[in-house]
Amino acid sequence: MHNKISRRAVIKGGLIAGALVPALGMIGPAEAADLPALDPADPTAKALGFAIDSSKVDAASNPTHKADQKCSTCAQYQGKAGDARGGCNIFAGKSVPAGGWCRVWAKKP
Ligand code: SF4
Repeated sequence: MHNKISRRAVIKGGLIAGALVPALGMIGPAEAADLPALDPADPTAKALGFAIDSSKVDAASNPTHKADQKCSTCAQYQGKAGDARGGCNIFAGKSVPAGGWCRVWAKKP
């Protein structure tokens, strides 16, 4: 009898976990857009040359920057196409503008 209850508890737990995982996955992107904006004065942002507007990046101090490089085309960007801003894997807990840039930029596959 004890085994039966344990098995039931395990199955019930599995069903709850199975229901929650897809739900959390759906919440993730929406939350990313609501994250506080990354402050360009943040020490890590400064160290990586983060700019709110890729078209205004200082070419002299960022020779690797190219005009078509933006957060929206970066592999680290978590926003969807058309989003004004989204999360970034490098700046956890913050959002970056789709038109932003930093030295970690790498083309989205
Ligand atoms: S890593 Fe990519 S998405 Fe994140 S701030 Fe830099 S360029 Fe933007």
